[in-house]
Amino acid sequence: MSAQLSASHTPLAIGHYIHGEQRGSDASIPAYNPASGAISGAVALATAADVDLAVKAAAAAFPAWAQTPPLKRARVMFRFKELIERDLDQLAATITREHGKVLSDAKGELVRGLEVVEYACGITELLKGEYTEQIANGIDAWTMRQPLGVCAGITPFNFPAMVPMWMFPMAIACGNTFVLKPSERDPSVSLLLAALLKEAGLPDGVFNVVQGDKTAVDALLDHPAVRAISFVGSTPIAQYIYARGTANGKRVQALGGAKNHMIVMPDADLDKAADALIGAGYGAAGERCMAISVAVAVGDATADALVAKLAPMVRALRIGNGMDDKVEMGPVITAQHRDKITAYIEDGVHAGAELVVDGRGHRVAGCEQGFFLGGTLFDHVAPDMRIYKEEIFGPVLCVVRVPDFAAALKLIDEHEYGNGTAIFTRDGHVAREFAHRVQVGMIGINVPIPVPMAFHSFGGWKNSLMGDHHAHGPEGVRFYTRQKAVTQRWLESAGSHGAEFAMPTH
Ligand code: NAD
Repeated sequence: MSAQLSASHTPLAIGHYIHGEQRGSDASIPAYNPASGAISGAVALATAADVDLAVKAAAAAFPAWAQTPPLKRARVMFRFKELIERDLDQLAATITREHGKVLSDAKGELVRGLEVVEYACGITELLKGEYTEQIANGIDAWTMRQPLGVCAGITPFNFPAMVPMWMFPMAIACGNTFVLKPSERDPSVSLLLAALLKEAGLPDGVFNVVQGDKTAVDALLDHPAVRAISFVGSTPIAQYIYARGTANGKRVQALGGAKNHMIVMPDADLDKAADALIGAGYGAAGERCMAISVAVAVGDATADALVAKLAPMVRALRIGNGMDDKVEMGPVITAQHRDKITAYIEDGVHAGAELVVDGRGHRVAGCEQGFFLGGTLFDHVAPDMRIYKEEIFGPVLCVVRVPDFAAALKLIDEHEYGNGTAIFTRDGHVAREFAHRVQVGMIGINVPIPVPMAFHSFGGWKNSLMGDHHAHGPEGVRFYTRQKAVTQRWLESAGSHGAEFAMPTH
């Protein structure tokens, strides 16, 4: 453990949660408070044997949970919802301490996760099958959706509560059992959620948490009892998870990285567009998969006016400890990530982009060891630059200038990522064309971060999602269940009708 840990502070042991009990492992890595830079906890690193224990606990709990009527499963979700509301402040503070995002944003992510729990409360309605009477004389047919078994979730650091809550409420309400492998950088809130599920009446073994890194992930990917994997994280890891999980015969949804563009048309309300870009570009220090990292200004006049509005706003960002309610932007997740973002900024300068606001070397008084960066704004960014092509995942906004709407659309469509995108305009026809044509999964019209609500589904296109199903909402129900089709005939009386050798037709 590093020298930063003073003798008087023993780091909090952050362990696993298996069959309703906390467990440790021999090895651990430090978790940090990114605002202070101090070690805040020791995160257990699961071995393959720890993962096997968790999967076996989930497998043992599955038959009884799958047989539990959906109405009773829904009641657990109702109680879980009330407990999250009761403990919202504590949950949010835990997120801010380990992630760094401001407290109001941490509450926001919890509420967006809570909305999935609310959707899962309606599982009785969502699991209804389809029925057709009299598909042929005296024959009826229906479909039903049944749970898969043990499902696993592997989640990123940037939404330590919301992204797991995209997954496990749906999986559990559908009758599955679950093993969560949260990000090793901010793992504590997953344990608080596990405790609330137990308090809500969820039987032990239905929800389990294993902490760890690649070793834990690989053990989940290779475990024969794991039937489905939901992953959210960066694209290279999403591709790896998808390839290895599907090669092992599992159902996999793997949501990857992003580079979200926002078009600003010449007719847009520039004040509103600038406000939207500041919130969407620098909120959570740009560490959101739906952050806007590219502003596409249509025409030089639009670009000049937009940059003139943005620059002072970026310089004025209130940066500091997210626990302070006056702060607008907290630190980034680790010192290494701060250095990586800094290297991207240097790369942009060398490539010839105009650095309008430079966030490198930003210091916060009283938090000198924190992992802070100021907001950075680039103008005249070109599509062949690394700062344009790659996901930076930090408080860096790139302005790309294009001559017209067609060029803006082409730019977005040629990018490898297709998670979210937005347009700011007063022209309904242009907005409609944009939504209709653009090759991206989630579209905002005068809305910068178009995250679908819990009762729709969340997912990108192209390299932002591997697999067939988006997260939560109706797609979540489909992902966590499989359909069975029943065809039924009750014969009037015993006796042979003779064998039939041809396909029955009408
Ligand atoms: P990451 O890919 O580094 O980690 C995600 C998970 O994968 C973690 O649990 C981690 O422990 C595990 N992991 C990391 N390296 C691994 C390896 N080599 N083998 C197996 N498992 C491994 O992502 P992150 O840095 O935690 O999160 C940021 C990324 O997540 C960004 O790219 C962001 O765009 C993306 N993200 C996407 C969405 C979306 O909905 N598309 C949502 C949130 C975050």
